Amino acid sequence: MPPGPTGKLLVGVLALQGGFQAHERVLARLGAEAREVRVPADLDGLQGLVIPGGESTTICLGLEREGLIEPLRERALDGLPVLGSCAGLIVLDRDHLGVMDIVARRNAFGRQVSSFEADIELAGLSDGPVRGIFIRAPWIAGHGPAVAILAHVGGHGVAARQGRMLAVAFHSELGDDDRVHRMFLNDVGDYAAGAARSSASQP
Ligand code: GLN
Repeated sequence: MPPGPTGKLLVGVLALQGGFQAHERVLARLGAEAREVRVPADLDGLQGLVIPGGESTTICLGLEREGLIEPLRERALDGLPVLGSCAGLIVLDRDHLGVMDIVARRNAFGRQVSSFEADIELAGLSDGPVRGIFIRAPWIAGHGPAVAILAHVGGHGVAARQGRMLAVAFHSELGDDDRVHRMFLNDVGDYAAGAARSSASQP
């Protein structure tokens, strides 16, 4: 798979509802090309996909309406790097797209602390904690053996990896710490390089 038309990594951002523009800004800042995804054809040629925060019920209804569930599932299970933040984590879980073996508990932090910020140690990021912005965030209430929980808040999982799928309960696209997006773009780069190698080896 060649890089995007501009020679940059081509990353889709699901743009049915929610905070997709903030993700686009971070991706652009990090030198990737962002493409808004609204219909199945928008998935063609993508080397990564972001599912933003927003309202998971609305996003899931939109996915169904646009016929995106199956194509998205297929690409994710085929190894496409995916980053889900907040509602995006919920969309990826067992009860929704079912591509990550996690169970998200919606609005898990409850009313009193519906929005807060916390410094969290994230496995894989060695240079200090990440400032996590949590807005009516879920936590990960359960997960299967293929999943690594990367960070906790108050004993609850708030970040997870399964293969090249990354899910964070906080808004990694807000604030100026873009290390979660860099981590994701590393996967996107590996995926793009692997895909380019396998197409080069075809007759
Ligand atoms: N509470 C929202 C939901 O359940 C998620 C909030 C967010 O994405 N900031 O979908």
